[in-house]
Amino acid sequence: MEYKHFSHQHTLTLYKVQPGQQFQCHGCHLPCNDSVFACWRCSFFLHDHCGNANRYVKHPSHSLHPLVLIPSPTYCSGLFLCNACGGPGSTFSYCCALCEVDLHVHCAYLPPKVSHKSHQHEVYLSFRPMDKKGSPEYCKICTTELSLRHWSYFCDKPECDFRVHTFCATSEVKPGLYQDVEPDDQVQIPTSTGNQNTCVYQTPVTTASPEEVLAEMFQLQMQLQMAQQLNQIINSAKI
Ligand SMILES: [Zn+2]
Ligand SMILES: [Zn+2]
Ligand SMILES: [Zn+2]
Ligand SMILES: [Zn+2]
Ligand SMILES: [Zn+2]
Ligand SMILES: [Zn+2]
Repeated sequence: MEYKHFSHQHTLTLYKVQPGQQFQCHGCHLPCNDSVFACWRCSFFLHDHCGNANRYVKHPSHSLHPLVLIPSPTYCSGLFLCNACGGPGSTFSYCCALCEVDLHVHCAYLPPKVSHKSHQHEVYLSFRPMDKKGSPEYCKICTTELSLRHWSYFCDKPECDFRVHTFCATSEVKPGLYQDVEPDDQVQIPTSTGNQNTCVYQTPVTTASPEEVLAEMFQLQMQLQMAQQLNQIINSAKI
């Protein structure tokens, strides 16, 4: 079976990684140890979940605009800082160019709730920055400080006061199973069957086709560029 991915010019084949083999995913730079999409000519590999990631998502953390999957950051530095975990990335990201929102693919698909052996209750994903309190808050799993600006998982029982990093809460979670949902399908609320830690956000319910959404994004980006150029003209006129 051959696959075509927008980020690579050759067709890819699905390959089962054998024990002892080491490949790095081009989409997230993490090691691949399950199934990969491979171009053997270029030694180009993608996790199946990175290769299957939707071209755009309507993400609950940024409901204003769709986030578009881009193969590499558009910033001069060649890096982005993930709004979810705060970590850098240099490969695939879900991005809103208008608002400078960037998410790692695996952060964009963090499950809405997970369970972790360190806590008796399920914990919920929170996108909202925490209220600034007097004292810093520490992750109950790794005990390092929690950033006020990034996402976290928390227990909603007030008596627990349990809040942790997204990457700490999901260290044992299998990466999302990205499923393509037909545009006219209802959004599937992730259901807990078997491994309840593998649920992911599904394709958004939208009446627009992917092409329409991309066209809309393109238009927004053009507007942004025009606004920036206008700004430059105004600024240079001031001097
Ligand atoms: Zn990957
Ligand atoms: Zn290739
Ligand atoms: Zn991230
Ligand atoms: Zn936006
Ligand atoms: Zn932590
Ligand atoms: Zn609790």
